[in-house]
Amino acid sequence: MKLTISGYSTALFSTWYFVHEFGLLFDAGDGVVSHLLQKSRKIKHIFISHPDRDHLTGLLQLNQLNAYENPPTIYYPKDSGSFPALEQFSKRFDPHVAGSRWIGIDDGQEIEIKPGYIVKAIKNGHLPQPNGVIKSLSFQLIHVKRKLKPEYLNLPGKEIQQLRETQGIAAITYEVREKILSYSGDTPVEDHERWKDAGTLIHEATFLDKGENSGYEIRENKHSSLGEVMEMVAASDVERLILGHFSSRYSNAEIDAKIHELSQQYGVNIPIYRVLPGDFLRDILTTGHLAK
Ligand SMILES: [Zn+2]
Repeated sequence: MKLTISGYSTALFSTWYFVHEFGLLFDAGDGVVSHLLQKSRKIKHIFISHPDRDHLTGLLQLNQLNAYENPPTIYYPKDSGSFPALEQFSKRFDPHVAGSRWIGIDDGQEIEIKPGYIVKAIKNGHLPQPNGVIKSLSFQLIHVKRKLKPEYLNLPGKEIQQLRETQGIAAITYEVREKILSYSGDTPVEDHERWKDAGTLIHEATFLDKGENSGYEIRENKHSSLGEVMEMVAASDVERLILGHFSSRYSNAEIDAKIHELSQQYGVNIPIYRVLPGDFLRDILTTGHLAK
């Protein structure tokens, strides 16, 4: 499926990705509406991965611009107090956004954003928390289809129609799930199974080398290094990889050279795209390709 993904992602400053076909926004850092302009009115479903300010401060303006007709719904990790606080403030500051919906979601929860398409929330370890406390999420866009059970495949259409009416659709079909797009949010690389067959994977790579994490963040927030991501992707059968959230300490040339080096080292032969520090990319899958 052709996806048009536009976005911006630089560690510490701002991160957001917009999937045009689905009116779907992952994170809402500064600059969302100033870059998308009129396109930002198409945003319908906003999934915020965690409460770090560089992932959410675009919400106020985005929300108030879109509040007049069909305001978007904002989903956030259920145990983060920042979002109820911002919701309250936003509704007092701009009374016309009173109708906007803010919904806390749990690990494993699935939200249907359009018939047959769901976004699933997956807990990650960016902000270490006790069991059951959810403050940081990754997301996955999944196409859920129903296929006819093999025993009915040779029946004429009319009989299938009859069975459908008498027994219901669930009795004659089974569910098939196709992962279309996965978004890591901010996260360490936790296991190599997480993004298996993930379709298009948008993953953070804050650091080029392991061990650079120390002292970078004020709190103990956990991030990924490019090497860890490439090693994981090599074992994960993803179709294409979008890398972002690089630290602005690196030059573009350093980042591209390291991606080349590591993709060879780990034998990653899929198309790789990257969102370099400070860059807004419109249609990343066209404009963000890393030349071989
Ligand atoms: Zn971040």
